[in-house]
Order: sequence, then C-alpha cells, then structure tokens
Amino acid sequence: MNVREIVTHCEHLFEDLHFNAVTQWKAAAPGRKAIGYMPIYVPREIIHAAGMLPVGIFGGGDQFEVIQGDAYYQSYICRIPRSTLELGLTGRLDCLDGMLFPSICDVIRNLSGMWQIMFKDKYVKYFDLPQNYDDSTGGSFYIHEMGVLRGDLEKLSGRRITDEDLRSSIAVYNENREAVRALYTYRAQKPWQAPTSEVYLVLRAGCVLPPEDHTLLIRSYLAECDKEKRPQRDNARVVLCGSFCEQPPLGLIKSIEMAGCYVVDDDFQLIQSWLLDAVPVNDDPLGELSKAFLHRSVSTSSKYDEKKSDKGQFLLRQVKTRGAEGVIFAAPSFCDPALLERPMLQEILAKHKIPYTAFKYAENTGQMAPIREQAGTFADSIKLWSAA
Ligand code: SF4
Repeated sequence: MNVREIVTHCEHLFEDLHFNAVTQWKAAAPGRKAIGYMPIYVPREIIHAAGMLPVGIFGGGDQFEVIQGDAYYQSYICRIPRSTLELGLTGRLDCLDGMLFPSICDVIRNLSGMWQIMFKDKYVKYFDLPQNYDDSTGGSFYIHEMGVLRGDLEKLSGRRITDEDLRSSIAVYNENREAVRALYTYRAQKPWQAPTSEVYLVLRAGCVLPPEDHTLLIRSYLAECDKEKRPQRDNARVVLCGSFCEQPPLGLIKSIEMAGCYVVDDDFQLIQSWLLDAVPVNDDPLGELSKAFLHRSVSTSSKYDEKKSDKGQFLLRQVKTRGAEGVIFAAPSFCDPALLERPMLQEILAKHKIPYTAFKYAENTGQMAPIREQAGTFADSIKLWSAA
C-alpha cells in the first residue's frame, strides 16, 4: 500500500463505529474474545497474554448522534461518557466481551458502575492505577491489581496466563511502542512529511488492530511517507496538550495544521506512548510492568505528581526535545483533570517564556473557524516573536 492507501485504510477503521475489524478478528478463530478499554492507560499486555484483543474505545466522535446517552448524564460534563454509553446501548459494543475503566477521573469511575448495572452479561472492571510511586506501596498495590485482572481474564478465557505468555506479550508491545516512538520522532523531524492528521489515524488504528499488525502498519506508513515529496512550510512548531481522553474531531486537528502549525508532539491516545522505554522481559513480568508505570511513564494531568517541582517538567521536555516554539492547550469542555492542571502548566511555560494559547472542544465540535483563527493568530505571533 502507498501512503494514501494506508491512510484511507486507517480512516475506514476510525470511522467504523460498528467495530467490524474486531468482529472479523474474533470470527477468524473459535473462542476468541475482545476486551475494551477506556482512556487513558491499562496494561494491554495482560489482555494480549490471555489471547484476547484489547480494543480502545475513545467515544463516538463527531459523526455519531447521542440520543439515549444524554439521559444518563447532566449536560455540564464532557461528551465521551455519553457517546460511549450510546455505543453500548445501540449494540455497537456487542463484539466486546468485557470493558476496563481505568482510574482517570470521577466520570470514568461512575461510568464503570453504570456499565456494571446496564451490561450485566459482560465482564466489567474499574481498573485502579497507583498514585503513589514507591515500589513497596504503589508498586505492591499495582501488582495486586494486575494479578486480579490476570485471574479474571483467565476465568473469562478458560486458559491460564503463564509468565511466559506475559513475557511474549510484553515483547510484542515493546515493539509496538518502539514503532510509535519512531513515528513521533520522524514527525518531529519532518512534520511536513507526516502530518498529524495522518499520524493520528495511523495511531488510532492501534485501537482495533492486534498490536503485531499495528506495528507493521506504522512501519509501512513510515517507509511510504518518506518516499513522498511534500512541501515544507514555514509553520510554527507546537506541542498539543490536554487531549488525552475525549479526542478532538479529526477536522480540528486538520484546522490547526491548516492554520499554520506543525504539531510536533501531542498527548492523543496516550496509552500508546505511556511507557517511555522497553519493559525488560525477565522472570518478573508484572513487577517490570509496575516499575515501568511507576518510574518510566509519561506525565499527564490525571496522574499525580509526587513533587511540586515535577509539575510541568514533562511538558517542558516535550517542548525542548521536539524543538517546539509554543504550546496549544486543547482540552475537552468540562474535563476536570486537564482544565484544573492547565493554569499550573501555563504558569510554568510563562516562566520559561514559552508562548501558549488555549481552547476547549467537544468530540463533536463542528465550528472550526474560530479555532482556525485562534491557531493561525498564534502561529503568526510565534513567527513574529521568533523573528524579533
Ligand atoms: S474527558 Fe476529562 S472529564 Fe471527561 S472522562 Fe475524560 S478525563 Fe474525565
């Protein structure tokens, strides 16, 4: 496939809210099961080690009408829980045998309770993640939580998950993470060759494809897009921050790019880059997954910062290592984690004289003109300042 065919394939997967790719994967062999997960992070290695397909559920997007889902939530919260409920109520998630709701915020926690009540025939787990990074405290807790998940999936799949299974799955995901890192590095070096609107779709395909296939897809995209000769523009290089849960519409990402910005780093679909390096493959797989989470993972607003001095350091590193000239804070409306942290991050950027701008969106935001104007003005001002 050439680059256009790869992107079109990814777009079809992205738009398919009936998750036919998952249904087809299950139908290819008897007894296969699929487990959905909400943003941001769950250890997909354990699901994979159980012989199951991990499926990322990131809401309904901008082409999906929410009717019943609105009745379950007040209007002043984000849209992702409502559209996810709508996906469930309309049978679109019937291909899933279970759902994991990681501890990201109260909304997702409440959604896990509602899911347990509404979809009684499915496996449902609120998957708690540590907010203490001491191996003997947060680490023990997390290893215990992963052990419970392992036992639950053993019951559901009817097969033991051995340490060898876990090691193989860790190795598979190490390769996938390496490919994702290569993609991000390539985009930061040549953002005109790998626009974020494409990179986003290639990554999003990882929500429904087996990780082995997704790794191959990323590698093909990298090889093919490097063959293209695309025009390089004098755009402003920006980091996008705050879009880790409910995703912006694809049109919004395109609008930011069309306004004159190259997105050189972001926090979309954070699960794919959550662990910052390879997880060692040794005789303590859960222990290594825990250490990677506690000591070598991204910072984001739904994760506790142990020391006040840590706040914003990850974002500063993103700006520095990617050669960014500014930060765009783009968070879902009513997103408590992102919007509560934003002023603290803005203060740190101001101290370091890094320009930023901020706006909110919903996954079904339709009016792109104001965002395009704002992003365009931001890009122009960066170019003026850097020329001064
Ligand atoms: S968008 Fe924000 S508030 Fe809404 S579920 Fe996600 S993290 Fe929670």
